[in-house]
Amino acid sequence: MLQYDKLSLNIPDTTKPRVVIIGGGFGGMNLAKSLRDTDVQVVLFDRQNYNGFWPLLYQVATAGLEADSIAEPFRKMFDDHKDFHFRMVRVNKIDPATKTVTTLIGDLRYDYLVIASGSKSNFFGNEQIQKYAFPLKTIPEALNIRSQLLQCFEQASITRDPAERQSLLNFVIAGAGPTGVEMAGSLAEMRKHVLPADYPGLDFSQMNIYVVEGLSKVLPPMSDEAGQKAQRYLEDLGVIVKLNTLVDSYDGETVTFKGGEQIKTQTLVWGAGVTGALIDGIPAESLERGRILVDPINRVQGLTDVFAIGDIAFMKTEKWPKGHPGVAQPAIQQGNHLAKNLRRMLKNEPTEPFEYFDKGSLAIVGRSRAVADLPGNIHLGGFIAWMAWLFVHIWYLVGFRSKLIVFSNWMYRLFTYQRGTRLIIRPFIRKDDKVANEIMLKNEVA
Ligand SMILES: Cc1cc2nc3c(=O)[nH]c(=O)nc-3n(C[C@H](O)[C@H](O)[C@H](O)COP(=O)(O)OP(=O)(O)OC[C@H]3O[C@@H](n4cnc5c(N)ncnc54)[C@H](O)[C@@H]3O)c2cc1C
Repeated sequence: MLQYDKLSLNIPDTTKPRVVIIGGGFGGMNLAKSLRDTDVQVVLFDRQNYNGFWPLLYQVATAGLEADSIAEPFRKMFDDHKDFHFRMVRVNKIDPATKTVTTLIGDLRYDYLVIASGSKSNFFGNEQIQKYAFPLKTIPEALNIRSQLLQCFEQASITRDPAERQSLLNFVIAGAGPTGVEMAGSLAEMRKHVLPADYPGLDFSQMNIYVVEGLSKVLPPMSDEAGQKAQRYLEDLGVIVKLNTLVDSYDGETVTFKGGEQIKTQTLVWGAGVTGALIDGIPAESLERGRILVDPINRVQGLTDVFAIGDIAFMKTEKWPKGHPGVAQPAIQQGNHLAKNLRRMLKNEPTEPFEYFDKGSLAIVGRSRAVADLPGNIHLGGFIAWMAWLFVHIWYLVGFRSKLIVFSNWMYRLFTYQRGTRLIIRPFIRKDDKVANEIMLKNEVA
């Protein structure tokens, strides 16, 4: 049995400045990598032991990729870094007055602290939706969705109740941002090319995929052109797009929209919003809209030696009055830039303000179509955008092994329409579903 009083962080004492990084996502991982040849001790805390490539998470959720092809363990990534220490632990609190971070297994003093804890799903305070909907922010959540989708098809193929079958074959995705659009497109491709062969007894014309968006367009963060194209691609694939529609409630069986319309479904995927993954101890006056206010060098407003980068950071500039978009590039660029500034600070040199270089945005819809907004007001669609999407995602994947697996997987799928990971390895069962829990137990005993 694990006994907390026998655990400690076990970080060696040092005479070098200690940089503590909370979160090894796009921002934290790039910062730690950029500090490689700097004369500091780097301590990285993350509650998981890997860096995940979240833009491909929907592929794990829709049985297109194995989870381990989109993640790389920190210990492998940093095995050749000197004086780098990773601990798999959640940081619960920071105390800027004593320059300490608190974890479940002990405290650690820092000289420089970087908060790179990213964002988490936002259910806007609706506890019922939080309890029953399927968020898509982490690998365990993607695996829950994969199991749930496959279980729905298994159950739909054996139920004798038509209403139950319909509810198992209705899939509602809340939020028509990139995650919602990519999920819906991928699910629609499965319906067309994969599922009829797997479940010959099921009538897939009964399978409905809904994408529901509170705003008036698909892909709200992207251009109108991209949004219209993506909507057309989705509709070509048979996805039902509902704009100006907000989810009001979900009890695990029925989604009710504001306005009263209802859809019976066992699966509501939640991609309708995120908020900062905040940590206790940050002064309230340094927060705005669930994110941490930072100055042009990513220093937390009102604090010294504490920085925030990536999704959690809110840097207001003339060009970005609402902060930078919550996508990977600002996090990557801020991580790299902060490493340079930390080195300048160590040498008592003046720091330089961060400037975001916007490389554009991409979203994929189905197996071979995508939309892209590129700098210079250039908008691409269709196969060319899909090629760009493919190239960018392979390029930024961490590790040669992942690049190879993902590339070969996509080529295999492009030509065969197949997807290889339709496995229910860890069934998804809601804790309060007594019948499902009983069946599962009996299956295991048998
Ligand atoms: C499904 C999905 C699809 C996306 N698609 C795209 C896309 O196509 N293109 C794009 O540019 N962006 C995309 N994004 C957004 C992009 O992934 C984020 O903008 C980016 O990850 C932000 O980087 P970050 O370093 O701020 O946070 P993250 O990459 O989220 O990393 C945060 C890290 O902090 C850790 N952490 C959090 N709290 C604690 C704590 N208290 N203690 C210890 N560790 C902690 C987490 O485990 C995580 O590893 C997508 C995101 C999701 C979820």
